[in-house]
Amino acid sequence: MEKKYQEVLSKINQADSILIGASNGLAISGGIHIFAENADFLENFGDFRKKYGFRNIVQGAFYPYPSEEEKWAFFSRMYAYLINNKEVSPVMKNLYELVKDKNCFVVTTNTDSHFTLAGFPKERLFEIEGNSRYLQCSHGCHNQIYQGDEILNEMAQNQENGKVPSNLIPKCTECGGPMQVHVEVDRNFLKGEEWQTSLQAYKNFIQKAHGKKIVLLELGVGARNQLIKAPFMELTNLEENATYITLNMGRELYIPDSIAAKSIGIDGNIGEVLQQLAQLK
Ligand SMILES: [Zn+2]
Repeated sequence: MEKKYQEVLSKINQADSILIGASNGLAISGGIHIFAENADFLENFGDFRKKYGFRNIVQGAFYPYPSEEEKWAFFSRMYAYLINNKEVSPVMKNLYELVKDKNCFVVTTNTDSHFTLAGFPKERLFEIEGNSRYLQCSHGCHNQIYQGDEILNEMAQNQENGKVPSNLIPKCTECGGPMQVHVEVDRNFLKGEEWQTSLQAYKNFIQKAHGKKIVLLELGVGARNQLIKAPFMELTNLEENATYITLNMGRELYIPDSIAAKSIGIDGNIGEVLQQLAQLK
């Protein structure tokens, strides 16, 4: 195994650019499992589970709440759980240590802000499905997204019987309508100016890396993922000097034959693998 780790480190070392792709598997290794009905879920969302019957955070995010007061009770709680006063997990710390001196870009479907928390700059981060700390107009009447930390924190701290006080509920400043977190839970998800800027930065990064040594470092992205994995495999195929490094568990670790010669796969707990790599660096 150590030989494989050395190979990964040497590829990272020699790379001109490193493109990191991360999804739910990375969040899980950092202790956040939004699809699980685990002890954490019961402790933090047990009252919602009892009231509505949903069994994990994702189901809660898609639930059709009967009122704005109830909707914001959930989303502010989700914010508090995922983001507020969070410390950087050892997993993210190790990842950052591993690549901090390199020319990096991150693309992720995680909405938990843990990359910026770990020190990755926002302008080198594309959060495809949004971020739980931002708000948008539910009707999408205008493209602006808003920093929601203050109001989300206030709502998280002031909820009773599964409701937040009506006077705290955010309203769209343009149309007066309801707002929602800027996370892709429905078709109203805004792909406005900031989202487009991040997408463009992602594309520019890939374009600049063309022909040079690029490492695609994929962390906890499911075998059939179309948003991150499919484009990463395609890019590996196209780029002569690309190396595709994928970290995942068991059946989710997938490398197609067409790029096998340019690929390194490590099957195991992502947190432990990153720790090993950071130590060996
Ligand atoms: Zn509006």
